[in-house]
Formats: sequence, structure tokens, C-alpha cells
Amino acid sequence: MILASSNKHKVEELRQILDREDLTPLPGEVEMPPEDGDTFADNALIKARAVRVQTGSVVIADDSGIEVDVLDGRPGVRSARFAGQGASDQDNLDKVLDEVAQAGGESAARYVCVIAYIDDAGSEHLFEGVCGGQMIAGKKGDGGFGYDPSFVPDETGSGDRRTMAELSPVEKHEISHRGKAARKLSRFLLA
Ligand code: IMP
Repeated sequence: MILASSNKHKVEELRQILDREDLTPLPGEVEMPPEDGDTFADNALIKARAVRVQTGSVVIADDSGIEVDVLDGRPGVRSARFAGQGASDQDNLDKVLDEVAQAGGESAARYVCVIAYIDDAGSEHLFEGVCGGQMIAGKKGDGGFGYDPSFVPDETGSGDRRTMAELSPVEKHEISHRGKAARKLSRFLLA
């Protein structure tokens, strides 16, 4: 089983959730097409199909991002490149914070992750995980990555104003979009 990502952190995280030691990262020779779909599902399938066609393997691919209500759901599928091609996590977050500030301050938001799974027979399956919360003004915490320092998840409770970057990795995986999508896939594989 191949994960269509060369991100070691993602491979290890999914190995643990799926309890699959045989999950391998993207082989170097596989060429990935541009992620130019309109939805997270489109992009996850674009990646999964590219790996399937080139390797013939069972494959998993994920796509994720954040949707901010006052920005009409942006950055969405453009989360990794909101401030431009090659932008850093910090550049992308600063741009979101600027736009949210101009739109009035805080905003409801949600992280979304879609995992595409192509099985032995070539059938495609999609699993979605959503983590709702608030984009706040400013940044707090050193954990996580991306938009985490300014995202306060709802599921830690209304009295808990910690951002995703202030949660332990275990706390984050319990409520995160990626953790939820991966656990759905795990249940499907065990059924
Ligand atoms: P990808 O799914 O690896 O393409 O990630 C898309 C982008 O969404 C990342 O570069 C981040 O900007 C954002 N993102 C996805 N998941 C998270 C998360 O758990 N925390 C913070 N940012 C995230």
C-alpha cells in the first residue's frame, strides 16, 4: 500500500492509525500531476489515480486545507499556496489573518481532509474528516504546522481557548480532520 506523499510525518501518522507497517511513501520515480481540482476530493483522486496508473498498487492519497467563513470558504483547496506558489506556512497564515482582520476580526472556520483509497480491484473510495473551530486574531503555540497557531478547535470545549498549535500531537489527532478521515478509512479496511 502506497501513500501518495513523501511527507515522512504523514506516512508515520497513517501507519499508526491504520496499523499498517507496509504503508510506504511515494516512490521517487512517480511523477505527480498538478493539484488543480476544485475540491479536496478532486485533488485526492488526482494524486491517487496518478500513483495507481504508474505503480498498479493499492494507494491512499489525501488532500486537506482550511475553509474560513468570512472569506467565503477560502483558502480551501488553495491553502498550501494562498500567498502564492512556493509561499511559506507563515506567509499563508499572515495573508489569512490580514483578510480576516479586514472582514471584522474572528471567523468560524473548518479544517477539511479527504482521503482517497484505490483498492486491489481499482475501485475508488473517499473518506472525509472535518474539524470545526474559530480563526482568531494573532498566533499562539509552537506545535502543529500551517494555520494551527490561529485556529481554536471547537471540540476541546468552549472554556478552552488553546489553539491547535498548543495541543499535544495526541490531542490534535483525536479531533483533527486528518485523524477523523484516517479512522474512517481504518474502520472501512477492518470491516
Ligand atoms: P496538503 O493536504 O498536504 O496538500 O496540505 C494543504 C495545506 O492545508 C497545508 O499546506 C496547510 O497549509 C493546510 N493544512 C492542512 N492540514 C493542516 C493542519 O492540520 N494544520 C494546519 N494547516 C493544515
